[in-house]
Amino acid sequence: MSNPIIENEKKFGANNYAPLPVVLVRGEGVYVWDDAGNRYLDMMSAYSAVSHGHCHPRLVKVLQEQAAKLAIVSRAFYTDKLGAFLERACKLTGFEKALAMNTGVEAVETALKAARKWAYSIKGVAENKAEIIACNGNFHGRTITAVGLSSTPQYRKGFGPFPDGLKLIPFGDVDALEKAITPNTAAFLVEPIQGEGGINVPPQGYLKACAEICKKNNVLMICDEIQTGLGRTGNLLAFQHEGIQPDAIVLGKALGGGLLPVSLFLTRKEVMDVFMPGDHGSTFGGNPLAAAVGKAALDVLIEEHLIERAAELGKYFQEKLRTLHSPLIKEVRGRGLLIGLEIDGRYDAHEICLKLLKHGILTKETHKTVIRFAPPLIISKEQIDVVINALNQVLVEAEMELA
Ligand SMILES: *Cc1c(COP(=O)(O)O)cnc(C)c1O
Repeated sequence: MSNPIIENEKKFGANNYAPLPVVLVRGEGVYVWDDAGNRYLDMMSAYSAVSHGHCHPRLVKVLQEQAAKLAIVSRAFYTDKLGAFLERACKLTGFEKALAMNTGVEAVETALKAARKWAYSIKGVAENKAEIIACNGNFHGRTITAVGLSSTPQYRKGFGPFPDGLKLIPFGDVDALEKAITPNTAAFLVEPIQGEGGINVPPQGYLKACAEICKKNNVLMICDEIQTGLGRTGNLLAFQHEGIQPDAIVLGKALGGGLLPVSLFLTRKEVMDVFMPGDHGSTFGGNPLAAAVGKAALDVLIEEHLIERAAELGKYFQEKLRTLHSPLIKEVRGRGLLIGLEIDGRYDAHEICLKLLKHGILTKETHKTVIRFAPPLIISKEQIDVVINALNQVLVEAEMELA
């Protein structure tokens, strides 16, 4: 049964992931194919990085043309692509300025650096006293700062010491935020829906109340929209469901159109202007290849109505999931096409994912009991029906094993 390709990756690669036993060689739209030619429906879409679908033809064309023309020059020079990308991103999201990085965690780091410098230079916090508040169950990436903010023991264990000035509060608890704020608080960093934490949707009105508390206390509210943003939840940005505009956001994942790592930190002019030449940077951040693809990814999102699709098909998908009356389903939750299916603890969600794989459905559990359904936003009703049927069969099999 062992596949030499898998054995080779294991032999030469680090052991920091536990992939499902499938070797993917090709992708198109919502489908991927393995090395034996089997086709799968991708319900993971690379943790939302492939919202546009695999190898979107228009995005591939932009990538190929720009790669053949000019790809990397560093920020030591201007290019004809960066400004247009940042303008598109700012105007769509309602922020004044944007700073381009590559991966999500780099955008998070950028946001935290901006918030600290803003606290010292504008808010008047004493040097080295600035505090950042985040939530239990968060996921903001894997650098030492980001895992320093994590409440998940495994993410932290063995990687300390962590930076000072990081505080955690319960997610969804407005009073806890109010109590945690001090005159030294620079920012509150929050995911509108916790993705890796288990697709946790906060109570209605939570973000709005947080925005009011932050404003009252002169604290920056920074929404981590890396997973929830760019249409995933049925709005361009998930915070828009509550009619607010936070002080800043970070975007990543789908911003690269499923082709490249592209991330952004977006905020008001007052905050961004704390950065001076030499304060912060990235060799690859904002390169013309990434800028061209990032702008096209935003254009495709709007022009192909992917946001509306996520709203409509997410509703359809969730309704269908709720018709599955399996005793193994504890809860269906999420928004748009960011959906979590909580499985009864008597059964391992990972085993369900392995069974789904055999039925041609790719997905992955998060936190042992939650199965994630976050397909490309281009998925159709018919494809959702295929997933529902497969899931139904898998749940029946699993129930029989328990009985
Ligand atoms: C994936 C993710 C990150 C980290 O992004 P990387 O590109 O993996 O560094 C940060 N925040 C959230 C909410 C994410 O889902």
